[in-house]
Amino acid sequence: MDSNSHLMELPTKVLIGDGVLSQLGEFVRESAGRRRVVVAAGSNVQSKVRETVDSALGGKASWVEVSAPDLANVRKVMKAASDANCIVGVGGGKSVDVGKLAAFRKSIAFYSVPTSASHDGISSPFASIKGLDRPYSLKAKPPVGILADVGVIFSAPRRLLASGCGDLVSKLTAVRDWQLAHRETGEYYGSYAANLALMSANVVIEGSRKLGRFGKSSVRDLVEALISTGVAAGIAGSSRPCSGAEHLFSHYLDLVAPGRGLHGEKCGLGTIMMAKLQRGDWKVVRDALKNVHAPVTASELEIDDGMIIEALMRASSIRPERYTVLSKARLNRPKSLALASSTGVI
Ligand SMILES: [Zn+2]
Repeated sequence: MDSNSHLMELPTKVLIGDGVLSQLGEFVRESAGRRRVVVAAGSNVQSKVRETVDSALGGKASWVEVSAPDLANVRKVMKAASDANCIVGVGGGKSVDVGKLAAFRKSIAFYSVPTSASHDGISSPFASIKGLDRPYSLKAKPPVGILADVGVIFSAPRRLLASGCGDLVSKLTAVRDWQLAHRETGEYYGSYAANLALMSANVVIEGSRKLGRFGKSSVRDLVEALISTGVAAGIAGSSRPCSGAEHLFSHYLDLVAPGRGLHGEKCGLGTIMMAKLQRGDWKVVRDALKNVHAPVTASELEIDDGMIIEALMRASSIRPERYTVLSKARLNRPKSLALASSTGVI
């Protein structure tokens, strides 16, 4: 491909509704044919949905337990899929990422069955796998189909739903960073993909009070918005509309403070600060996050102030080719301290 063209890859179908998990067999039939269906899932998820999935797939399910989002698990799923036509990833994050990459590497179909709505990987062409040469997502293919059972997702812990809201508001700063990169470096910018991502962020910004009660209709809005941002990445042909400086900040914290805070929670904190750095309305972001009960301070995530400062100073170094407001601002220690404290993050 030359610089004037790019490939858009999108999911083919989405089934969303209360109780749709029982329709999984029919949903994957065109890919699975008569063969076994490899189902990648963590142990907690298996205990919750195994019976429904087994009966939906009519005894054709081959379960593989995913213990971590790493290459060893990707290989395990690939091996289990040696004579399968499709892989189904059932879970909140790691099983979807592992299944997506395993299917991509085997060139077979992948179906995503999210059991929570904590980030936009459920529909995106990207997989977050640990132990690679970089701490950010790897390009794979988007799922062929996404089956989102609102009843199952509704019963997930509220913290996961709030984290999904954090990943959604981050599109505000991601899109601004994309526009900045377009102006400063001439990088391709697609206004359609950008607007689609912004619409998803606005589901949280404009509806945060209702969303924060997490009724079933709110959960459905949240899931649809997350699916849509993954589609925006597919249209853009890159993660640009979904991931800017706030994601680099979150990825940096993954490295220096592993296990503290969820992806969307860290992105939410990053969005508050990057919005201020971009001279945007950061208070609107903070208030929306508060309304959905997502964290707005480092201490709520048990992350030290010093790590926040370090992340602001160094986050852009983990992906130097991605031009963002952090590349432009080049924050030193006093400026980082001022940014984090003036926004109340530390
Ligand atoms: Zn994200």
